[in-house]
Amino acid sequence: MNTQTAYRTHTCGELRLKDAGKHVKLVGWARRVRVLGGVVFVDLWDRYGITQVVFNQQWDKDLYEQAREIDREFVIQVEGEVRERENKNPNIPTGDIEIKAASFKILSKSKVPPFIIEEHTDGGEDLRAKYRYLDLRRPPMQRNLIFRHRLLQFTRNWLSEKGFLELETPFLIKSTPEGARDFVVPSRLYPGHFFALPQSPQLFKQLFMISGFDKYFQIVRCFRDEDLRADRQPEFTQIDCEMSFVDQQDVMNTFEQFVADAFKSLLDYELEPFERMPYEEAMNKYGTDKPDTRFGILITDITKDVKGFGFKVFDTSEYVGALPVPDGSSITRKMWDHWEEYIKRVADVPGFFYVTWKDELKAKGPIIKILGEETVKELFNKSKVGPGDALIIMAGPWEKIVSALGTLRLHIAKELNLIPKDRFKALFVVDFPLLSWNEEENHWEPNHHPFTAPKESDIPILDTNPGKVKAKAYDLVINGVEIAGGSIRIHNQSLQQKIFDLLGLSKEEAYQKFGFFLEALQYGTPPHGGIAFGFDRLTAIMLGEETIRSVIAFPKNKSGRDPMLDAPAPISEEQLKELHIKIIEP
Ligand code: ASP
Repeated sequence: MNTQTAYRTHTCGELRLKDAGKHVKLVGWARRVRVLGGVVFVDLWDRYGITQVVFNQQWDKDLYEQAREIDREFVIQVEGEVRERENKNPNIPTGDIEIKAASFKILSKSKVPPFIIEEHTDGGEDLRAKYRYLDLRRPPMQRNLIFRHRLLQFTRNWLSEKGFLELETPFLIKSTPEGARDFVVPSRLYPGHFFALPQSPQLFKQLFMISGFDKYFQIVRCFRDEDLRADRQPEFTQIDCEMSFVDQQDVMNTFEQFVADAFKSLLDYELEPFERMPYEEAMNKYGTDKPDTRFGILITDITKDVKGFGFKVFDTSEYVGALPVPDGSSITRKMWDHWEEYIKRVADVPGFFYVTWKDELKAKGPIIKILGEETVKELFNKSKVGPGDALIIMAGPWEKIVSALGTLRLHIAKELNLIPKDRFKALFVVDFPLLSWNEEENHWEPNHHPFTAPKESDIPILDTNPGKVKAKAYDLVINGVEIAGGSIRIHNQSLQQKIFDLLGLSKEEAYQKFGFFLEALQYGTPPHGGIAFGFDRLTAIMLGEETIRSVIAFPKNKSGRDPMLDAPAPISEEQLKELHIKIIEP
């Protein structure tokens, strides 16, 4: 890498003891400036590292006086000699040397930065967002974005080597079906007409397969106008892929290899082979379709075991589930109350029963009396816990209760520190239901998107029992986070039409929305399927970051705004007029 320019001979991360005696020219930001007994020390920073520069009164009084003007984040150019340091700093690669300054130039001054530009800062999230360019100077953000770059390059190279073609698709399009709202762009030339920004390149990548490209990828921005939810961005980056003449296994195997290779190459981490877990198993054991399999603590279905004792709550519930709490017998009453309050708040459930087993069984409420000690101990046994542990029991509708137990499982594991750090566990969740029933709007909805193929063996029950039809869809989950999702697509026009019928989309509506695509399906469509990765998520998970905002250079904030640009913002009357748009004040 050649970093030599008209301004510098070396970067701030380059010089070592072997360079002692060399005359060099460095440029960078004055990260720290200390004046100590007639000496000015400047930690000169650039993306490559930090080098200490020294101005000593005894060497050059004038220069020393001038150097006292250097302040934090000034951009300076220094010329001088590399020499061995007296007080070496073993924490940085350049810690053995320093620059004995012979001259320097202030290339640009800096206002006092609004927060400390160091590994740890005193700046709150809002302030840092407003001055994002300064936040990006901090080491963690530099590391994250440089890692992001490496993952991007790795992805490009890996996919290209495997024969995927990087093909681009347009941003100004008509709606794509990923289930969110579209961002729309008004057309000036066609009054009252709008483009939509892609929620994903779904239909284009399928068209590429019809065009015969066989393997496609694109690292592409997608736009979804969703309500604000935890850690979503209205624009985000996908690694979008599609392959022809493949079944589910082909796609999953290919991308298992991709992820395993990325972890190995960038983190030197060997992932275990990815489990394929059916959706129902994930729900029943983990209470979620994105199970965190780094730790045990599995939900157990105890519906049959607790019915018939005359306990109304159990007898009348569709489902009763138990969640073990290892070492739970020593949990304080206060903690139990806190957990119960938490789950009532987040899952809208009436609460839970719990039993602790120290020397004897203890419970809040009458549960031991009603079920008897033997039965309760059997429940412990069935949940693979015993003396010293505790059991949480909840009853109600299946989906609601397993989900609540799943939420509690994660919450408790976090609070009790049961999740191993620095560990990655990846799996594919498979066999999703193709459709789910929308109570409010009274029709079926696709769980993935309407182009996902049903399992062949389930096609006969599409008319009679649509809710039971499984999809050829798969999600990749790492550490409890959905990292990618995809499916085998429908490549047959009449089956596609049938799915639209089930979704309550009339022929006219379907044609109006996706006519071009339905037309295309009739010209020799290969069997095909694909997957799309949330690239920001993958980056964040690999870096152990809690939020994708930490791996995006200029993200929107939690309120979906860009505080630096102050966007979204109104536009001028003229612009509105040109676009034939009138604002109706809310
Ligand atoms: N287009 C889908 C999505 O964005 C992914 C896929 O099916 O390939 O979720």
